[in-house]
Amino acid sequence: MLTFYPGPSKVYPKVANYLQDAIKEGILSQNHRSLAFMDMLKNCILAFKQKLNIPEDYQVYFTSSATECWEIISQSLVKHQSHHIFNGAFGEKWFDYATQLDKTTSCTKFDFQTTFEAKNSYSTHADVICFTQNETSNATQISANFRQETNSNVLIAIDVTSSLGGIELDWKMGDIWLASVQKCLGLPAGMGVMICSPNAINRAKEIGERKHYNSLLFIHENFQKYQTHYTPNILGIYLLLRIMEQIPDIQTISTQIKSRAINFYDFITSKTSLELLIENTQVRSETVIAIKGNIDEILRLKQKAKENNIILGNGYGAWKDTTFRIANFPAIEDWEFDKLKTLLRQ
Ligand SMILES: *Cc1c(COP(=O)(O)O)cnc(C)c1O
Repeated sequence: MLTFYPGPSKVYPKVANYLQDAIKEGILSQNHRSLAFMDMLKNCILAFKQKLNIPEDYQVYFTSSATECWEIISQSLVKHQSHHIFNGAFGEKWFDYATQLDKTTSCTKFDFQTTFEAKNSYSTHADVICFTQNETSNATQISANFRQETNSNVLIAIDVTSSLGGIELDWKMGDIWLASVQKCLGLPAGMGVMICSPNAINRAKEIGERKHYNSLLFIHENFQKYQTHYTPNILGIYLLLRIMEQIPDIQTISTQIKSRAINFYDFITSKTSLELLIENTQVRSETVIAIKGNIDEILRLKQKAKENNIILGNGYGAWKDTTFRIANFPAIEDWEFDKLKTLLRQ
């Protein structure tokens, strides 16, 4: 079975061995205040920061999901208002959650076929500005300078759920980065990741919010000691550590992913009768690719894929019947893309 679903997505094949190792090593039955756990958490964060080239002074926290990170931001990091800039369903969902949470919100929607321009988009009153760097629903990405035209009292929060681990990110462009592990990181679902700049931590301290089980200050204070304030996903942390030890550094991965994206985009337009959902080449995502066709063609392809034990990602929302999505995540190997091409060529 091959899967190109953009989340949950293919897990790295080695996960099968790591699962067995986790049992053998007994880490799953260790108390999360034990030295063995604290060591593991420390090594995991170190390896994660090293492989992804995360600045020394940025903090890494593990949560339950990307969705939880959205809530943590509203609860613990927004003073008065968050401003949300988006062109698709995940960015909008984040905005909707934030709006339910007792803080003022505002938004700028932009057309998904157009290149995002920072100019004029920022609300002057917001103290946190939220972007979805890779919009999984419509297969677009923002490559803009996120810090443009903002003052230093504004925090930039960036959802990179479907790009973290696949492409190189310019960490200094953001204060809060969030993701979950079941997409580009090639792991089983059940864990989120949040990466915070010193400014973000200072903001959390300034606000001093401690009302929630997942208040960022609780998370931060515990992670400083390589502990967690509730029993965490120990298996998830273990698997992430093992994967981080296994993968090449992010520059290497990013180069491979970008060239495979170019290659596959080119293949679709030149070797098939299909089209790309995203016409503007500047905004096409490098990690999630959306392919368009007429209803019959898409239906036929999906059936054919099924017969060949290949799972394509369904189109999102209104595009369900006329598109499908392909994850270009690093856990998927080149030979799998070759099989996919054979299927799509027919
Ligand atoms: C999948 C996804 C989410 C939600 O992730 P969960 O782990 O289910 O919370 C959020 N944002 C983007 C861009 C996503 O692709």
